[in-house]
Amino acid sequence: MLKVEHVTKYYGEHLAVKDLSFTVKEGEIFGLLGVNGAGKTTTFRMITGLLDKTEGQITFNDKKVDYNITDQIGFLTEERSLLTKLTVSEQAKFYGGLKGLTEKEIEERLDYLLERLKISEYKTRKIKELSKGNQQKVQFIMAIINKPKLLILDEPFSGLDPINIELFKDLILELKKEGTSIIFSSHRMDHVEYFCESLVILVKGQTVLSGNLKEIKESYRKKNIRIEGNINEEELLKIKGVIKIEKSSSEYIINIEDQKVIEEVFKYITKCKNITKFVVEEPTLNEIFIEKVGASYEK
Ligand code: ATP
Repeated sequence: MLKVEHVTKYYGEHLAVKDLSFTVKEGEIFGLLGVNGAGKTTTFRMITGLLDKTEGQITFNDKKVDYNITDQIGFLTEERSLLTKLTVSEQAKFYGGLKGLTEKEIEERLDYLLERLKISEYKTRKIKELSKGNQQKVQFIMAIINKPKLLILDEPFSGLDPINIELFKDLILELKKEGTSIIFSSHRMDHVEYFCESLVILVKGQTVLSGNLKEIKESYRKKNIRIEGNINEEELLKIKGVIKIEKSSSEYIINIEDQKVIEEVFKYITKCKNITKFVVEEPTLNEIFIEKVGASYEK
């Protein structure tokens, strides 16, 4: 288990991360979110031991994170960090060697991962000759070549098409199943919702929201009602507690203040014609993120 306890980081006078605490269990995918400059990269670098913290403690399975356990860690950074003049196979040998793997282990793992990501034919190609998406695949392979016990994924799907995103997702879920503790960071809230049970949202280094995603959603008062059919938007907006109405190609999304408004909306709907759908939903993580981060920015 990864434990981050009361961690603070100053760059000179500048406070980049303030009193951050969270844990990531074995086989858990944890979301670390924030807008640009929130302190995510600083946190990742402290967790991986690349950067000293000013205060606090970080342990992985009760041991301080230092060079003795870097073999157990994988880090997929947002920036490319590949040696592009090397072939994929040479890069794997170099990187796997740094992680303490034997040539045989590297070869077997590389072949397996190339196959899973459907790029076996690029094994002996120079990395600089590969497309952006395929370079992202190679970078992902390097991050997990050592079957890490702790894995940090920073915008892992960057530059990938939907089919390749699925290939990545399968591998991430496989690592989770094998017990890897994963920290997942992305600006795509739908991806965070797909993977993460718990999360932290940072704004200017401060934690503005943390905890179990399901509980966060339940405690959030606002809800959405999805309606398909003929409604009069103006009439609906007259109901107290209806905040706004969005119209997509096939349905209306009614944003309401809290649970109590559902009945009033339902009463109105019974007077309408051709209603084929009425579904009450928790808010999306995107809505919660925008509200929480927006409110903190205004402070
Ligand atoms: P992004 O999503 O843009 O990558 P981030 O959440 O990863 O952002 P960090 O890179 O951790 O944010 O930066 C947090 C804060 O610390 C920012 O205000 C940034 O300007 C500052 N910062 C980062 N690195 C340094 C450094 N080496 N020296 C001084 N300040 C830094």
